[in-house]
Amino acid sequence: MKILVIDDSPDALAVAQVRLAKEGVQIVCADGGLAGLDAARSEKPDLVLLDLDMPDLSGFEVCRALKADPELCMIPVLFLSGSSTPEDKVKGLDLGAVDYVTKPFDAFELRARVRAALRTKHLQDLLIEHASLDPLTELPNRRALMERLRREWARMQRHGGSLAFIMADIDHFKKVNDTYGHLVGDRLLREVARTIARECRDTDLPTRYGGEEFAILVPDETAEGAAQLAERCRRKIEEIRLAANHQSLRATVSFGVADGTGLESPRALIQNADQALYEAKAAGRNTVHCSAGEVATEK
Ligand code: GH3
Ligand code: MG
Ligand code: MG
Repeated sequence: MKILVIDDSPDALAVAQVRLAKEGVQIVCADGGLAGLDAARSEKPDLVLLDLDMPDLSGFEVCRALKADPELCMIPVLFLSGSSTPEDKVKGLDLGAVDYVTKPFDAFELRARVRAALRTKHLQDLLIEHASLDPLTELPNRRALMERLRREWARMQRHGGSLAFIMADIDHFKKVNDTYGHLVGDRLLREVARTIARECRDTDLPTRYGGEEFAILVPDETAEGAAQLAERCRRKIEEIRLAANHQSLRATVSFGVADGTGLESPRALIQNADQALYEAKAAGRNTVHCSAGEVATEK
């Protein structure tokens, strides 16, 4: 884990570094409030040790800025301050800090408080991870999808560009469950998820939308470009052979693709992809349809 120490005094930074060396954590230092905020953004630390009295930005201001930033607000802050007044302690904790230690500090006590803060941070990270992951396929779940869609939509509105969305649904999946049982159905879901994830770029977000449906968010891409990704997935899924009941089980998936051009909301984007998926199903399944009406599959 990584700790960021923000303090304008080089001596204080050196002391903190020596005292925490035995904790086996990585330590990054910043010599003021502004530098500290920059370091928090670039280093993504697991804990910030924050001095109160600094000439450029006070510790209170740094803490306020950290807690106001959605990307940084989950980083725990521990004030390490020369001030021992109850008013400052109350203010620091009320601004969202997890702890407040006064200087000069006892090294053992500081280390124990740092360990406690890191334990809580670790649990918090696990909770966040579990809340956004589908346990069966280990793909991001619908919550993660909606969260990312909201951010990508806002980004597209600010900077322009495009955003594509793919909705995928396994064909006749109910029959797989009915014929081979739900455990085999689960295995097939995992295999399809793995196959889709393998075809995606790092910037794409493949997710389990629900049941036997998957959604892929494709930033900076038109429906046409995303249809090529969908078509690659479709072909790879066709090649799956799953051993079940001494038989070789195959699967196909239908895809609907849309992009955000001219749309007023993320909701409309999902609706258009869903409509295209409906058309792919109606056209005989195992095919890719775009909301503009194009068919990306050549068979
Ligand atoms: P279509 O080609 O029109 O999509 O037909 P379908 O049979 O795939 O669609 P339908 O919606 O009728 O059935 C989906 C099935 O997916 C029903 C449900 O029991 C099953 N299902 C949903 N979630 C899971 C899961 O986590 N595991 C398993 N094994 N089955 C699931
Ligand atoms: Mg379905
Ligand atoms: Mg289906």
